[in-house]
Amino acid sequence: MTEHTFEVTDLRQWMYCPRVVYYHYCLPDVRPLTRLMLAGMAEHHNESGREERRSLRSYGLKAGERVFDLALRSESLGLRGRVDLAIAVPDRQAGTEAIVVEYKDSEQAAGPHVKLQLAAYALMLEEAWGLPVKRGFIYHMPTRKVEAISITAGLRTKVKETVSAIQAMAQGETMPAAPASRRQCAVCEFRRFCNDVV
Ligand code: SF4
Repeated sequence: MTEHTFEVTDLRQWMYCPRVVYYHYCLPDVRPLTRLMLAGMAEHHNESGREERRSLRSYGLKAGERVFDLALRSESLGLRGRVDLAIAVPDRQAGTEAIVVEYKDSEQAAGPHVKLQLAAYALMLEEAWGLPVKRGFIYHMPTRKVEAISITAGLRTKVKETVSAIQAMAQGETMPAAPASRRQCAVCEFRRFCNDVV
């Protein structure tokens, strides 16, 4: 198969288990949308409406131009996706920086997979708007708290390395090894395809 760009959410899935991404691209008909996923998508949509009424002060900003649900695509990075919120500070014409925000239906601090996803949006927004993106935020919907995330050099490198790994998998159509920990296999929707681990 030939894919020129991958979804940013693939990076997060890849860190969870590379096989999930393999099944998505190499066996595209097998993945159902679970009721849990549909409920999560509906809540995500509702949060966008609430965000429009929320103040920029939540992010420690006095001024900023907000763009919700922004579609981003980068052929050079090999990525596409929609970031929940992009903010130009103070606006896109006179901007000195831009910020990315993702909503999460979780109280837990952002793990490596969430930070990687945010960094991918940051890199694409830099390219799209021509503004530096040095930080982002995770908005935790259950607690309505924001968590600041630095877009570090290490995260930037990790985004590119992960895209390269997914490209190699897709081109070779080779099923990746299962993750070392099998904890997630117990609740995975693909477990019936992974006869070697469950
Ligand atoms: S069952 Fe385990 S190894 Fe298979 S796709 Fe799910 S998480 Fe990955």
